[in-house]
Amino acid sequence: MPQMPDNSRTKLLYTAATEGEAQMLVDHLASFEITASAQGGTLSFARGDIPLTQQTLPQVWVFERDYTDAMQVLDAWVQEAVDQEPGEDWTCVSCGEKVEGVFDQCWNCGGARPADAEEDQAT
Ligand SMILES: [Zn+2]
Repeated sequence: MPQMPDNSRTKLLYTAATEGEAQMLVDHLASFEITASAQGGTLSFARGDIPLTQQTLPQVWVFERDYTDAMQVLDAWVQEAVDQEPGEDWTCVSCGEKVEGVFDQCWNCGGARPADAEEDQAT
């Protein structure tokens, strides 16, 4: 028998909360040339009186050979999502208006949020 590596084995990478999240992760992995597939969720189970469990949530599967790479991409992806949480209120450098952290632009003058908001910067 030729020593062919078994490239067809897959491994569960991530259990998503929603199909949209699973699909986003599949697309994200694809941009790193990692093949992934989303399974489960409403794609493969009939709604009924079965309680929602981990098994009925959409799962993202990758080839075992890509698992380590995929795990790193997943970690960065999760971290990115955390970083996108609304931050502290910031002060517009153009007009001095105080802007809520959920906004990336000043509501008053349209100025962009400073990349590294430091309100007590020495002048
Ligand atoms: Zn402003």
